[in-house]
Parts: sequence; structure tokens; C-alpha cells
Amino acid sequence: MRGTVIHAPGDIRSETLDDPKVIEPTDAVIRTAVTCVCGSDLWPYRGAEPVEAPHPMGHEYVGFVEEVGSEVTGLRPGQFVVGSFATSDNTCPNCRNGFQSNCLHREFMSTCQAEYIRIPNAAGTLVALDETPDEHLWPGLLANSDVMGTGWWAADAAQVRPGSTAVVVGDGAVGLCAVIAARELGAERVIAMSRHESRQRLALAFGATDIVTERGEQGIERVRELTGGIGADSVLECVGTAEAMRQALHSARPGGSVGFVGVPHGVALDGQELFFSHVGLRGGPAPVRRYLPDLNERVLSGRIDPGKVFDLALPLADVAEGYRAMDERRAIKTLLKP
Ligand SMILES: [Zn+2]
Repeated sequence: MRGTVIHAPGDIRSETLDDPKVIEPTDAVIRTAVTCVCGSDLWPYRGAEPVEAPHPMGHEYVGFVEEVGSEVTGLRPGQFVVGSFATSDNTCPNCRNGFQSNCLHREFMSTCQAEYIRIPNAAGTLVALDETPDEHLWPGLLANSDVMGTGWWAADAAQVRPGSTAVVVGDGAVGLCAVIAARELGAERVIAMSRHESRQRLALAFGATDIVTERGEQGIERVRELTGGIGADSVLECVGTAEAMRQALHSARPGGSVGFVGVPHGVALDGQELFFSHVGLRGGPAPVRRYLPDLNERVLSGRIDPGKVFDLALPLADVAEGYRAMDERRAIKTLLKP
């Protein structure tokens, strides 16, 4: 089959790889319907994470069940499925508490930019739809497998409530999906921080009510001006840099909450500052599996369309151009079609 391998920073190749097989009796193999490139794939691509040896890439997917292991219940070949970037048995204590991305049997997906994918813990990880959805819905469902689920987690972790004010730090695909989530959870005011016109337009289309283009101290000042001088009830941090975290912490009001979902790189917190801020903090890899049935329903009914974050679609073989376009910020997010 065709699959994607990173050899070194900046060196992404589409290659012929062995077809994946069921290895554990709890595995399934799916045929990829569509997959994509994630903002977090750019960390190794840009050399911000080491590439010690060539390895496959990709953790977002929707597809058709091809084969299931002997212990997989509830799934059969041909079904259209949506899964999470983190696998889960959906039965262990952490799963039952709603933190499937911390499942005791978790494995992080890492081979999804390919024609076929092996899915560990398939019964707990994959959510099968009743019927194959129309192709125009595939991008939205694909978004649910990571960026929309992560944006939802940001809003959930930041305790967005009906009538509240939310600030979204970051205008990548997750930040844009976080705007959708904040609105769906009832935020009356959603302030999106973005300096890029095309992303601002999408944020507004997704329900943002205000755009803040300033960064750093000026950005913090601008948010305070918009929130009666005290900061927002909820701040959704969707980047992961020290600058973004600082922006988030200083944009929340005393008693407010920050949900941080960008994988932290170089972030360090000052205990005293946090102590005196009265700001609540929660982050981590999104428990996407918890949200999937609900998010799939919202996409299938047309209530939300997170698939709009894909502004570039390429054949899987052209994956290298997909990375390049995102690295150069010519594209928000690249959809890949096997
Ligand atoms: Zn579990």
C-alpha cells in the first residue's frame, strides 16, 4: 500500500509500505476514506522534535472496516467508522471516567497517512455510523477524529457556559474548531485571536464575535478592554507555545478557566503568578472518544461543518506538498485522498 514516512525534518515521502494486518485479536484494519496533515505533524517536520529514524506519519482518519480480529465486537467489514488519534478500550476506569485519551491500554495512532490502517483496541476506539455518509460529509467527520474533538475539549476544559465570554488563542485548525465548540456550548461572545485574514474570515463564519489581531502585552490589553477590564470567563489555548500560554493565562479573569490543548513546547508556569491569579487550568490530549457520537451527529445533521478547515485537498501521493503548504502557512489544513 501507499503510506507516508518522515525521513528527516523537511523530508516527507510517499512510499510503498507493507499492508497492515490484524496482529492482536482486538485489532481492526480499515481502508482509509480520507486522512490529513495535523499542525502537530509540523513539530518533527520543522525539526522542533527529533526524527531519530524514518517513521510513518498521521493520526487522523475515517474509513471502512476491512478486517476485524477475533475479539472485536460490534464492528463488521464495510462499516464507515470514525476513530480518535488515541486508542482506548472504552472499558477501563479512566475510560469510564471519560478520559479515554488516558486509557490504561492507550496507543497513540501514528500510521494514518496511508491507504490502510491498523487500529488497536478497535471495539473501544472506532465509532461506526449507521450508513456510509455522503462524501461531502467526510471532511467534517475526519475533523472530529482530532481537531474538532480537541477544540471541543478546549471549550469543555475551559468550562464554557451559556452566556459566557470565551477567548480562543490560536487560529490553526484546532483554534478554529474551538470557536465552533465555544458557540455550541453557549458562549455569547467568542473573541478569536488571529492575524491572518483568511483565518479571521473562517473564525467569523464559525461564530466568532470579535477578532483581536494584537499579540503579547497588546493582545492581553485588547482582551481586557473587551471584557470590562477583567478578562474572559474562559480561555481556549490552542497553540502550545510559551507565548500562547502566557496570552491565555493573562486573558482569563480571576475565577476564570483556561483549557490548554496545544501540546506544550517550552512552556513553564510560575507558581506564584498562578496562585494569585485565581485562574483554573486544565489541559491534555483530548478525550475525543467521549465526544465522538455527539460530534458525528452534529456533523451529519449539518449543524456544524468543521470540514471547512480543510482548504487544500491533495492525492495521498502528494503528501509532501501538503506538509510544505501548511509549513509555509499557504494552507490551514491539508486533506489527503487515497
Ligand atoms: Zn480504557
